[in-house]
Amino acid sequence: ESGERIAKIMARVGLCSRREAEAWIAEGRVSVNGKVLDTPAVTIGPKDRVSVDGKPLPIRERTRLWLFHKPRGLVTTTSDPEGRPTVFDALPPEMPRVVTVGRLDINTEGMLLLTNDGGLARVLELPATGWLRRYRVRAYGEVTDEALNEIREGITLDGISYGPMEAEIDRQQGSNVWLVLGLREGKNREVKRVLAHLGLSVNRLIRISFGPFQLADLVEGDVREIRGRVLRDQL
Ligand code: URA
Repeated sequence: ESGERIAKIMARVGLCSRREAEAWIAEGRVSVNGKVLDTPAVTIGPKDRVSVDGKPLPIRERTRLWLFHKPRGLVTTTSDPEGRPTVFDALPPEMPRVVTVGRLDINTEGMLLLTNDGGLARVLELPATGWLRRYRVRAYGEVTDEALNEIREGITLDGISYGPMEAEIDRQQGSNVWLVLGLREGKNREVKRVLAHLGLSVNRLIRISFGPFQLADLVEGDVREIRGRVLRDQL
């Protein structure tokens, strides 16, 4: 079968999410070749003409990627049950509909990748990319050589294994220490959990790179589109 499910196509052109597409179909807003659909269980081929509210489906947008310098205090979800501000609330109004590649905790800062291509986002967040995620971390407590070695070798906590990390001490700042850590996975609260286990309490966490992309001089709260060869290499 060469066709694709209609909800998937509607989501990919950036019109709506798949779930919204199904709702719109149920509302009778979507037609194929002039006939109103009453079920989302339809595959669409290249010759089918889809329209929504009587207007033809837009042409598929090309894949685009952006870097966002996330400030602290924003959640990385489209809507928060507690009503906290999301990264999407902070994006410039001219941005098209995007999704994030992975997540950062509410109090984590730094580099977040955004894309208008949900399929690409899912691929780029897979552990199989083996991408290094580098963080600058400020933690309260003392870093022993033993602790550094444990971080570098990887540890298992509550049955979850956290892989080896690159770990260097950058500098001391009062009773805090700045570390630079490199991880090849992104498990939930990984940095905070591993450091907490070693008696270190993280009070600033900044992601400075993700795979081939660097935060560099991107100002907090700003987005920058990735163009040219660096983008093509990821497609
Ligand atoms: N590790 C964490 O604990 N939090 C993040 O947001 C990212 C990595």
